[in-house]
Amino acid sequence: MKHKIAIVGFGGMAGWHLNLISELENLEVVGVWDIDESRRELAVAKGIIAYESLDALLDDVQTNIVLIATPNDSHKDIAIAAMKAGKNVVVEKPVTLNSADLQEMITVSEETGMLFTVHQNRRWDEDFLMVCEILKENQLGEVFSVESRVHGSRGIPGDWRQLKKQGGGMVLNWGVHMFDQIFLMFPGVKLKTVHAITTSVTNQLVDDGFRTELLFENGVRVLVEVGTSNFISLPRWYVQGVNGTAVIEDFDKRGKMIIAVGENEKDIVPVITAAGLAKTMAPRREDSIKEVPLPEVTADIRDFYQNVMAVIEGQEESLIKLPEIARVMRLMETIFESAEKNEVIAFEN
Ligand code: NAD
Repeated sequence: MKHKIAIVGFGGMAGWHLNLISELENLEVVGVWDIDESRRELAVAKGIIAYESLDALLDDVQTNIVLIATPNDSHKDIAIAAMKAGKNVVVEKPVTLNSADLQEMITVSEETGMLFTVHQNRRWDEDFLMVCEILKENQLGEVFSVESRVHGSRGIPGDWRQLKKQGGGMVLNWGVHMFDQIFLMFPGVKLKTVHAITTSVTNQLVDDGFRTELLFENGVRVLVEVGTSNFISLPRWYVQGVNGTAVIEDFDKRGKMIIAVGENEKDIVPVITAAGLAKTMAPRREDSIKEVPLPEVTADIRDFYQNVMAVIEGQEESLIKLPEIARVMRLMETIFESAEKNEVIAFEN
């Protein structure tokens, strides 16, 4: 079956989808709607139909999927209108701005029977999948701490992303990916508590970064941090197990994993510093540790749309489940609450 998709919002991310879709046999972009005339002209220059309005896009009977790639505050109304017009809907992340709005969208999806899903594309990031593999294979022994960071140094982009009303800020922008990843890493494990701070280094309008500590029921502590004033980036992932440590530096998956081997050292040679002596922090003896290769993983983001099409055809279940999306939304709300009160908040799973 050939699927036909129309795109609402023909900005930066729509261009990315356009390239991705061009690699898929059974999916074709038929047209776009954007409130900005210059973006509609760009679509026409690329040989794509530009509709005269959202209604015109929704009236096109040949389209069975609508992708919504507009600023975050407009996702809800467009998604609801599209589902009511009989279209399956793919919404960019964050799905919307709060749990109440999300529930409205889910209700319309249930009432209309249309597919409603979210482009959580960072589930296909290979650095993330490497950490999942390390945990699954128990390569570090029992894991007690995971640190997930994304650092940049350009502040927050100067467009709608710095407006609270439009769903700007780094919690909604990057946090939504990172929390989704963390929940997937610990399937079925309840999150007990959340503590968070948000930062406003480069502007006072929205959070331009945040740091949050999550404590899971199994005792694992997770630090999730986004910074936009970090001229030196800390590693993307730092994972500690009782028997080893793994570092993944960046999206290119550079990094290393060190595990303990043999018996624990008994005759520790202290490290002598300029002003003292330390045994606890002395480097490990070479024969008591081993560097092992990070796991190799491969992922193909085309699987996102392959799954969307298979769900529409009734052949597969959606890889992105709405209760997962709702849980991440509740976590983001809890983070804002914790940051505002500077309190540890119990999480409602
Ligand atoms: P953008 O500003 O580049 O593009 C948004 C486009 O939407 C603009 O062309 C604008 O004119 C148009 N627009 C605004 N309101 C509209 C409306 N009501 N109807 C029709 N068109 C409208 O933004 P972007 O970077 O493309 O981001 C779009 C969405 O994609 C956001 O939700 C963002 O969070 C998401 N995004 C996701 C990823 C990812 O990796 N999944 C990456 C970047 C952006």
